[in-house]
Amino acid sequence: MPRRLLTLTAAALMAAAAVIIPAAPAVAAPTFKVPFPCGQTWSGQTRTNHSPPNSIDFNRTNDVDDPVVASASGTVDRVTDLGNTSYGKYVRINHGGGYHTYYAHLNAFRVSVGQTVRHGTVIGTVGSTGGSTGPHLHYEQRLNGADIRIRFNGTLALYWGTRNYTSDNGCGSGSTAPGTVRTAGTPLTVRSGPGTGYASVGTLATGTNVTIHCQTTGTSVTGTYGTSNIWNRIGSGRFIADAYTYTGHSGFIPGVPRC
Ligand SMILES: [Zn+2]
Repeated sequence: MPRRLLTLTAAALMAAAAVIIPAAPAVAAPTFKVPFPCGQTWSGQTRTNHSPPNSIDFNRTNDVDDPVVASASGTVDRVTDLGNTSYGKYVRINHGGGYHTYYAHLNAFRVSVGQTVRHGTVIGTVGSTGGSTGPHLHYEQRLNGADIRIRFNGTLALYWGTRNYTSDNGCGSGSTAPGTVRTAGTPLTVRSGPGTGYASVGTLATGTNVTIHCQTTGTSVTGTYGTSNIWNRIGSGRFIADAYTYTGHSGFIPGVPRC
Protein backbone atom coordinates (compact mmCIF):
# COMPACT_ATOMS: atom_id res chain seq x y z
CA MET A 1 0.00 0.00 0.00
CA PRO A 2 1.47 3.38 -0.96
CA ARG A 3 2.63 5.45 1.99
CA ARG A 4 0.45 8.39 0.98
CA LEU A 5 -2.67 6.28 1.21
CA LEU A 6 -1.69 5.08 4.71
CA THR A 7 -1.33 8.64 5.88
CA LEU A 8 -4.70 9.62 4.53
CA THR A 9 -6.32 6.60 6.18
CA ALA A 10 -4.76 7.47 9.54
CA ALA A 11 -5.93 11.06 9.23
CA ALA A 12 -9.44 9.94 8.36
CA LEU A 13 -9.51 7.60 11.39
CA MET A 14 -8.31 10.37 13.68
CA ALA A 15 -10.96 12.73 12.36
CA ALA A 16 -13.64 10.11 12.94
CA ALA A 17 -12.34 9.43 16.45
CA ALA A 18 -12.35 13.14 17.26
CA VAL A 19 -16.04 13.30 16.43
CA ILE A 20 -17.09 10.54 18.81
CA ILE A 21 -15.02 11.75 21.83
CA PRO A 22 -17.39 13.58 24.20
CA ALA A 23 -16.85 17.32 24.10
CA ALA A 24 -16.80 17.60 27.91
CA PRO A 25 -15.59 14.37 29.52
CA ALA A 26 -16.27 13.96 33.24
CA VAL A 27 -13.51 15.42 35.40
CA ALA A 28 -12.20 13.24 38.19
CA ALA A 29 -12.98 14.54 41.66
CA PRO A 30 -10.08 16.27 43.43
CA THR A 31 -8.44 14.29 46.23
CA PHE A 32 -10.16 15.97 49.16
CA LYS A 33 -8.58 15.66 52.57
CA VAL A 34 -9.84 16.27 56.10
CA PRO A 35 -9.94 20.11 56.49
CA PHE A 36 -7.59 20.22 59.47
CA PRO A 37 -3.80 20.10 59.78
CA CYS A 38 -1.82 16.89 59.42
CA GLY A 39 -2.17 14.44 62.27
CA GLN A 40 -5.19 16.00 63.98
CA THR A 41 -8.23 13.87 64.81
CA TRP A 42 -11.70 15.43 64.69
CA SER A 43 -15.13 14.05 65.37
CA GLY A 44 -17.32 14.45 62.29
CA GLN A 45 -21.09 14.16 62.39
CA THR A 46 -23.56 13.63 59.57
CA ARG A 47 -27.30 13.68 60.15
CA THR A 48 -30.41 13.55 58.03
CA ASN A 49 -31.78 16.87 59.29
CA HIS A 50 -28.62 18.78 58.40
CA SER A 51 -28.78 21.57 55.85
CA PRO A 52 -27.65 20.71 53.30
CA PRO A 53 -27.99 17.01 54.17
CA ASN A 54 -24.54 15.80 53.11
CA SER A 55 -22.61 18.33 55.23
CA ILE A 56 -20.32 17.30 58.08
CA ASP A 57 -20.04 19.17 61.39
CA PHE A 58 -16.57 18.79 62.90
CA ASN A 59 -15.67 19.16 66.57
CA ARG A 60 -12.90 18.49 69.03
CA THR A 61 -12.22 19.66 72.58
CA ASN A 62 -11.51 23.39 72.94
CA ASP A 63 -11.67 23.89 69.19
CA VAL A 64 -12.34 27.64 69.09
CA ASP A 65 -9.78 29.31 66.83
CA ASP A 66 -8.16 26.05 65.77
CA PRO A 67 -6.91 26.40 62.18
CA VAL A 68 -9.05 25.15 59.30
CA VAL A 69 -7.17 24.14 56.16
CA ALA A 70 -8.03 23.74 52.49
CA SER A 71 -9.25 20.25 51.56
CA ALA A 72 -7.49 20.41 48.21
CA SER A 73 -5.76 22.87 45.95
CA GLY A 74 -7.86 25.55 44.31
CA THR A 75 -8.76 29.20 44.27
CA VAL A 76 -10.66 30.97 47.03
CA ASP A 77 -13.77 32.44 45.42
CA ARG A 78 -15.81 33.53 48.43
CA VAL A 79 -14.77 35.06 51.75
CA THR A 80 -18.15 36.17 53.06
CA ASP A 81 -19.63 37.27 56.38
CA LEU A 82 -23.40 36.66 56.57
CA GLY A 83 -23.52 38.13 60.07
CA ASN A 84 -25.66 36.28 62.58
CA THR A 85 -27.41 34.14 59.99
CA SER A 86 -26.73 30.91 58.09
CA TYR A 87 -23.02 30.20 57.53
CA GLY A 88 -21.85 33.34 59.33
CA LYS A 89 -18.25 33.78 58.22
CA TYR A 90 -17.53 31.31 55.46
CA VAL A 91 -14.96 30.51 52.80
CA ARG A 92 -15.60 28.77 49.51
CA ILE A 93 -12.84 27.23 47.41
CA ASN A 94 -13.18 26.48 43.70
CA HIS A 95 -11.30 23.27 42.87
CA GLY A 96 -12.16 23.23 39.17
CA GLY A 97 -14.32 20.70 37.31
CA GLY A 98 -17.43 22.07 39.04
CA TYR A 99 -16.16 21.12 42.53
CA HIS A 100 -16.33 23.51 45.49
CA THR A 101 -15.79 23.12 49.22
CA TYR A 102 -17.43 25.24 51.93
CA TYR A 103 -16.08 26.06 55.41
CA ALA A 104 -18.65 27.79 57.63
CA HIS A 105 -19.16 29.42 61.07
CA LEU A 106 -15.51 30.53 61.04
CA ASN A 107 -14.21 32.80 63.76
CA ALA A 108 -11.59 34.41 61.53
CA PHE A 109 -10.51 34.44 57.90
CA ARG A 110 -6.94 33.69 56.85
CA VAL A 111 -7.40 34.04 53.07
CA SER A 112 -8.83 36.51 50.59
CA VAL A 113 -10.81 36.10 47.36
CA GLY A 114 -8.61 35.11 44.44
CA GLN A 115 -5.94 33.51 46.59
CA THR A 116 -4.51 30.22 45.40
CA VAL A 117 -4.47 27.54 48.08
CA ARG A 118 -3.20 23.98 48.24
CA HIS A 119 -3.69 21.00 50.52
CA GLY A 120 -3.10 22.17 54.07
CA THR A 121 -3.21 25.93 53.48
CA VAL A 122 -4.78 27.57 56.54
CA ILE A 123 -7.93 29.39 55.39
CA GLY A 124 -9.53 30.42 58.70
CA THR A 125 -10.24 29.34 62.24
CA VAL A 126 -13.06 27.43 63.92
CA GLY A 127 -15.82 29.56 65.39
CA SER A 128 -19.52 29.79 66.05
CA THR A 129 -20.60 32.60 63.75
CA GLY A 130 -23.90 32.75 61.88
CA GLY A 131 -26.75 30.42 62.84
CA SER A 132 -24.53 28.27 65.05
CA THR A 133 -25.20 27.27 68.64
CA GLY A 134 -21.64 26.25 69.51
CA PRO A 135 -18.15 26.19 67.99
CA HIS A 136 -17.70 23.73 65.13
CA LEU A 137 -16.70 23.60 61.50
CA HIS A 138 -19.54 23.09 59.05
CA TYR A 139 -18.01 21.54 55.93
CA GLU A 140 -19.44 20.76 52.50
CA GLN A 141 -18.32 19.35 49.16
CA ARG A 142 -20.37 20.42 46.17
CA LEU A 143 -20.46 19.47 42.50
CA ASN A 144 -22.05 21.94 40.11
CA GLY A 145 -23.70 23.65 43.07
CA ALA A 146 -25.33 20.54 44.61
CA ASP A 147 -24.01 19.14 47.88
CA ILE A 148 -22.54 15.67 47.43
CA ARG A 149 -21.63 12.92 49.86
CA ILE A 150 -18.25 13.76 51.29
CA ARG A 151 -15.18 11.69 50.51
CA PHE A 152 -11.70 11.98 51.98
CA ASN A 153 -8.94 10.41 49.90
CA GLY A 154 -11.76 8.86 47.86
CA THR A 155 -13.34 7.12 50.87
CA LEU A 156 -16.95 7.91 51.64
CA ALA A 157 -17.64 9.58 54.98
CA LEU A 158 -20.01 7.89 57.44
CA TYR A 159 -23.67 8.44 56.50
CA TRP A 160 -25.28 8.67 58.96
CA GLY A 161 -23.57 9.10 62.27
CA THR A 162 -20.48 10.32 64.07
CA ARG A 163 -16.95 9.01 63.70
CA ASN A 164 -13.39 10.24 64.04
CA TYR A 165 -11.44 11.47 61.04
CA THR A 166 -7.66 11.80 61.26
CA SER A 167 -6.10 14.27 58.87
CA ASP A 168 -3.25 13.50 56.49
CA ASN A 169 -3.74 16.93 54.97
CA GLY A 170 -0.45 18.67 54.24
CA CYS A 171 1.63 15.90 55.82
CA GLY A 172 3.90 15.58 52.81
CA SER A 173 6.70 17.79 51.63
CA GLY A 174 5.78 21.11 50.11
CA SER A 175 4.10 22.38 53.25
CA THR A 176 7.31 23.74 54.72
CA ALA A 177 8.29 27.41 54.63
CA PRO A 178 11.61 29.21 54.69
CA GLY A 179 12.61 31.43 57.60
CA THR A 180 15.62 33.42 58.72
CA VAL A 181 16.87 33.88 62.26
CA ARG A 182 16.95 37.57 63.18
CA THR A 183 18.33 38.68 66.54
CA ALA A 184 20.12 41.83 67.68
CA GLY A 185 23.33 39.83 67.47
CA THR A 186 23.09 37.25 70.24
CA PRO A 187 22.83 33.68 68.89
CA LEU A 188 19.32 32.25 69.13
CA THR A 189 18.83 29.24 71.40
CA VAL A 190 17.30 26.19 69.75
CA ARG A 191 15.05 24.22 72.13
CA SER A 192 13.99 20.60 72.19
CA GLY A 193 10.33 21.69 72.42
CA PRO A 194 8.14 24.76 71.91
CA GLY A 195 9.14 26.83 74.93
CA THR A 196 11.94 28.40 76.91
CA GLY A 197 11.52 25.67 79.53
CA TYR A 198 12.74 23.00 77.11
CA ALA A 199 16.39 22.00 76.95
CA SER A 200 18.79 23.96 74.80
CA VAL A 201 19.95 21.83 71.88
CA GLY A 202 22.13 24.43 70.19
CA THR A 203 22.26 27.99 68.92
CA LEU A 204 21.86 29.70 65.56
CA ALA A 205 23.56 32.94 64.51
CA THR A 206 21.43 35.81 63.24
CA GLY A 207 21.02 35.49 59.47
CA THR A 208 20.84 31.70 59.53
CA ASN A 209 18.30 30.31 57.07
CA VAL A 210 15.98 27.61 58.40
CA THR A 211 13.20 25.39 57.03
CA ILE A 212 10.01 25.49 59.08
CA HIS A 213 8.24 22.11 59.05
CA CYS A 214 5.37 23.00 61.35
CA GLN A 215 4.31 25.58 63.90
CA THR A 216 2.79 25.33 67.33
CA THR A 217 2.21 27.47 70.38
CA GLY A 218 4.30 27.51 73.54
CA THR A 219 6.02 30.03 75.77
CA SER A 220 5.38 33.63 74.82
CA VAL A 221 8.60 35.31 73.67
CA THR A 222 9.36 38.97 72.96
CA GLY A 223 11.91 39.35 70.20
CA THR A 224 12.79 41.10 66.96
CA TYR A 225 9.26 40.72 65.61
CA GLY A 226 7.29 41.59 68.75
CA THR A 227 5.69 39.21 71.21
CA SER A 228 4.49 35.81 70.03
CA ASN A 229 3.78 32.39 71.51
CA ILE A 230 4.37 30.69 68.16
CA TRP A 231 7.28 28.26 67.90
CA ASN A 232 8.70 26.91 64.66
CA ARG A 233 9.89 23.32 64.35
CA ILE A 234 13.03 23.42 62.19
CA GLY A 235 14.03 19.79 62.59
CA SER A 236 13.46 16.74 64.74
CA GLY A 237 13.36 17.95 68.34
CA ARG A 238 14.48 21.45 67.27
CA PHE A 239 12.27 24.50 67.88
CA ILE A 240 12.91 28.25 67.68
CA ALA A 241 10.73 31.17 68.76
CA ASP A 242 8.80 32.81 65.92
CA ALA A 243 9.46 36.18 67.56
CA TYR A 244 13.07 35.81 66.32
CA THR A 245 12.22 34.27 62.94
CA TYR A 246 11.64 36.27 59.79
CA THR A 247 8.94 34.42 57.82
CA GLY A 248 7.25 37.21 55.86
CA HIS A 249 4.07 36.62 57.88
CA SER A 250 2.89 37.85 61.25
CA GLY A 251 1.38 34.89 63.05
CA PHE A 252 1.02 31.46 61.52
CA ILE A 253 2.35 30.96 58.00
CA PRO A 254 -0.35 29.99 55.49
CA GLY A 255 0.19 26.42 54.28
CA VAL A 256 2.49 25.35 57.09
CA PRO A 257 0.81 22.76 59.32
CA ARG A 258 0.41 22.87 63.08
CA CYS A 259 2.77 20.49 64.85
ZN1 LIG B 1 -23.49 22.12 59.97
